Amino acid sequence: MRLGEDIRTLEGTLMLDARTGAPAGADSSRRGGESTRLVRGAVMLERGRIARVEVDERTPIDPRRIICPGFIDAHLHIPQFDAIGHDGLTLLDWLNDVIFPAERRWEDAAFARAMAARVAKRLLSHGTTGICAYGTVHHEGTRAAMESLAAAGLRGSVGQVLMDQSAPDYLLRPAAQLIDEAARMERVGRIEPIVSPRFAVSCSMALMRGAAKLAREKDWPIQTHLAEMLPECELVERLHGMPYVDVYKQAGLLGRRTVLAHGIWLSEVDRRELEGWRCVIAHCPTANRFLSSGDFAGQKFRPLALGSDVAGGPDVSMVRVARAAREVWLASLQSQAAPMFGPDYWWWQITAGNADALGWSDAGRIAVGAAADLVVVEPDVELRSAGSDAAALGQLMYGWDERWIAATVCEGRVAWTRGG
Ligand SMILES: [Zn+2]
Repeated sequence: MRLGEDIRTLEGTLMLDARTGAPAGADSSRRGGESTRLVRGAVMLERGRIARVEVDERTPIDPRRIICPGFIDAHLHIPQFDAIGHDGLTLLDWLNDVIFPAERRWEDAAFARAMAARVAKRLLSHGTTGICAYGTVHHEGTRAAMESLAAAGLRGSVGQVLMDQSAPDYLLRPAAQLIDEAARMERVGRIEPIVSPRFAVSCSMALMRGAAKLAREKDWPIQTHLAEMLPECELVERLHGMPYVDVYKQAGLLGRRTVLAHGIWLSEVDRRELEGWRCVIAHCPTANRFLSSGDFAGQKFRPLALGSDVAGGPDVSMVRVARAAREVWLASLQSQAAPMFGPDYWWWQITAGNADALGWSDAGRIAVGAAADLVVVEPDVELRSAGSDAAALGQLMYGWDERWIAATVCEGRVAWTRGG
């Protein structure tokens, strides 16, 4: 496969959403379709979409070539890719000492444009084709980055960060200016704007209300952070005089199209309330470990999504994020024999699950009509081709090596290949 080549047919073992192409009456899922399965087959592509899926249930899977849906990362920060790995700091110190200076570099829109192109390549090399991401507070820098991400073939939502308090002056803007700039954002290719108040620490109530109003007027999604660390929750209460969830509720930020990153320090009552609003929680297990934020306990929250949270999370690969999520879940149970949330579930989560959470019904799956965003994987280990899919899916997840990715396809076109 050559870079830029249009792909018409891919054959091998297909990673299917359990609900797609399952034989009638098959009990292929434990949790209402929240599962993946592997099956021999072929997928035909036309004009950037999946035109046909042929499935051969009788032939054993071919473990040497697996066609996966492109992975989706529901929470990451594009300007932070050069800041991965500064450890030993708590969230608020890490922001001030490492992250804010890194974001300052996007004052230079040309730098932002070049950096986003570099990041896009890196994402594609890890099989990520969909993103829900933050830019910086810089309008021109974020616009330039959106252009680079779209040109690379990625799909996603990317937002100019909104912050008007409790951060270095060089990253603060008046609320009215930020809302005005955010309102001028436009879709570029497959990258749409998302309204992005950073979090309640760095936003005044006026800014958050303005952000909520803008999202309603434009019918754009919203993303922010929620309850990542205990000192952050305490600071929010001090700044706004009410509990964290209430701040976002008062601001009008909660709703079906709102992605809340982390959601660690929430009570059961908070979680039920957020489920009532149909908000998405983006669980970021690798970031939570890196920053020692706490133990996430909301695996049963719906809708749930998974995110790398680069640079809080050091792993670009969504497969590694999925594995970490599996490990966090197992640690909470202290048992390896947990029947729920196995590898088949987490593969589903980083593909169809994240797509559904973000409202992208035509992404994250190998199904007729879906966007032809696919990853061609050639594992160099022997997968168990007989018996249960769960075993092979576990082997794939725990043995995962980015060098197995032969090509990443966006809208039917090769956007990245192993040979460059
Ligand atoms: Zn984040």
